[in-house]
Amino acid sequence: MKNTSHFLEEHFHAVAACPLCRKKYDPLEARIITAEDGVELVHVECQRCHGAIVATITGEAGGATSMMGIVTDLSSRDLFRLRAREPIIADDVLLFHTLLSKDRGQSFLHTIEEEIHID
Ligand SMILES: [Zn+2]
Repeated sequence: MKNTSHFLEEHFHAVAACPLCRKKYDPLEARIITAEDGVELVHVECQRCHGAIVATITGEAGGATSMMGIVTDLSSRDLFRLRAREPIIADDVLLFHTLLSKDRGQSFLHTIEEEIHID
């Protein structure tokens, strides 16, 4: 099994700077969400501006490193929590649609519409 700290030290430092303020990240600031088959999903919060990214880092031993990340307002805690959930599939959407089309579903929609108009 790959030593993830070594993986981050080897591959993270060369590619990672905060996209919001350009401060270079310290690999110790990265929280590993998942690590699988040479690809790590990490969350990093900038110590200067507190912006955060979630990124995948792919690296080969002694070779190229690539990182793809997006700015996020999710915390690492959110990512750990969401990782454990089952994905929403087409059947879930169809079931929800069916429930909303029934009488109680219509009253649910009216309640939501009223709440939206209040705010
Ligand atoms: Zn920053």
